[in-house]
Amino acid sequence: KVLVGTKVGEDHVNYILAYNMLTGIRVAVSRTTAKLDRELTDSDFTAKHKLAFDINGNELTPSAKYDFKFKDYAPWVFRHLRQLFRLDPADYLISLTSKYIVSELGSPGKSGSFFYFSRDYRFIIKTIHHSEHKFLRKILKEYYNHVKANPNTLISQFYGLHRVKLPYGRKIHFIIMNNLFPPHRDIHQTFDLKGSSIGRDYDEAKLETNKHATMKDLNWQRRDKHISLGPRKRDQFIKQLDIDVKLLERLHIMDYSLLIGIHDIQKGNTENIRDSTLTVFQPDTHILDRTPSKLERDRRVSLRRAFSTTNQATSEQIIDVLRQDEYPGRKNFVFYADDGGFRATNEQNIPMNEIYYLGVIDCLTNYSLVKKLETFLKGLHYSREKLSAVPPVEYGERFFKFIASIVKTPEQVRMMNAAATSA
Ligand code: ATP
Ligand code: CA
Ligand code: CA
Repeated sequence: KVLVGTKVGEDHVNYILAYNMLTGIRVAVSRTTAKLDRELTDSDFTAKHKLAFDINGNELTPSAKYDFKFKDYAPWVFRHLRQLFRLDPADYLISLTSKYIVSELGSPGKSGSFFYFSRDYRFIIKTIHHSEHKFLRKILKEYYNHVKANPNTLISQFYGLHRVKLPYGRKIHFIIMNNLFPPHRDIHQTFDLKGSSIGRDYDEAKLETNKHATMKDLNWQRRDKHISLGPRKRDQFIKQLDIDVKLLERLHIMDYSLLIGIHDIQKGNTENIRDSTLTVFQPDTHILDRTPSKLERDRRVSLRRAFSTTNQATSEQIIDVLRQDEYPGRKNFVFYADDGGFRATNEQNIPMNEIYYLGVIDCLTNYSLVKKLETFLKGLHYSREKLSAVPPVEYGERFFKFIASIVKTPEQVRMMNAAATSA
C-alpha cells in the first residue's frame, strides 16, 4: 500500500489542523444530517455555513480543544451527493471522526496538497488550493447533475467541501473524497496516467527502495501493460470514460489522470505495510452528545451504538469488519463492484487474476491564465502532444485516446503482435 506517511501525533504541527478538520466535519455534518431531507434549491449550491469553535463552547457549537473557525460549503448539496453515492450518513461520520484516527500522507504531488486517510481507509481528506476550492464551488451544480445522471462516473466522488481557519489567520480548504484503493487488498502496482510523456516517468531506480510508489505513463509503456477488459466491461468502461471526459472538457478542466491500482489475486495479501503509519487521536465522544439537540432520535441511538462498539474495537477488528462487508454501498457501482474494484476479464468475458481499482482524479485544475502561460512557454521547446499543459479539449482527447488504447485483453494483444510481425 502506498501509505508511507508520517504519524500525526499530538506533538505534530498538523495535529491541531487534523483535529480541527475532524471536529468541524463532525459537528457540521451531523447538524445537516439531523434535519429532515428536502429537495435542493439553487441557493443550496452557493450556501456556506460558519461555525466558531472555542474551548468554552456555546449554544451553537460544542467546546473544542482549540479555537478555530470552520466553514461548511453547500452542505445540502453534499448531503445529496453522499446519498447518490450510497453512503450511510452514520457510517460517514463514524469513519471520519469517531476514532479520530487518521494517517497522513505527506504531499505526494507537486501541488503541495496534503492527504489524510480515515482510519478505515475509505475516505481521503485532501487539502486544496484556494483556486481549486473556488472552482469546485463554481462547477458544483454541473458536477452534481453529472453524478445524478451518471451514478457510475469514474470521476472522484466528492463528499464534502470545508474550510478551517486558524486563529492566526491561515485558511485551509479541503475536500473529502473516496479512496479508490481498498482497505482489505494489497495494491501491487500503482499508476497515474495522463496520456502525455513529458515528466511522466517515475525514476525506476527509486522503485527498488520504494516499490509502492505511483508510477507514470512511461513506466506503464516500458512494462507494456494493458487494462484487460473483455468486450462487455470494455464497453462499459470506455462509454463512461467518454462521458466523463466530455464533462471535464466542457468545464475547462485539465491535468487530471487515471489512477489505477492493480491487485494481483495470485499474490494475494502479503504486504502489511499499512498499519505502520497510523495515528491515534483521542476520541472526544462528549461532542457527539452535545451536538444538535435536533438529531433524530433513532439516528442518535444508532450512532451511539456504533460509537460504543468502534471505541472498543482494535484497528484489526475494524479491518476485519471491512473485510467481511467491505463497502456497504459499493456493490451498486459498476466499477467498484468486484471486491471494491473492477476485475479484469478476457475476450470471453471470463474473470482473470487482476482487480483494478481505478478512477479519474485531480479534477479541479481549471485551464486558467497560468496554464495558458505554461503552454506558451513550453510550446517553444516541445512538441504539443507530449506536453501535459494543453487546452482542455486537446487534453481530454489525448487522455481519452491513450486510455482507450491501453484497454486490451491478452488475446487482442496477441493478435496485434501477430499482425505486426506478419506485416
Ligand atoms: P499534482 O497536482 O502535483 O499532480 P496533487 O497534490 O493535486 O498533485 P493528486 O494528483 O490528486 O495530487 O494525487 C497525488 C497522488 O495521491 C496520486 O497519484 C495517488 O497516488 C494518490 N491519490 C490521490 N487521489 C486518490 C484517491 N482518490 N484514491 C487513492 N489514492 C489517491
Ligand atoms: Ca495529479
Ligand atoms: Ca493537482
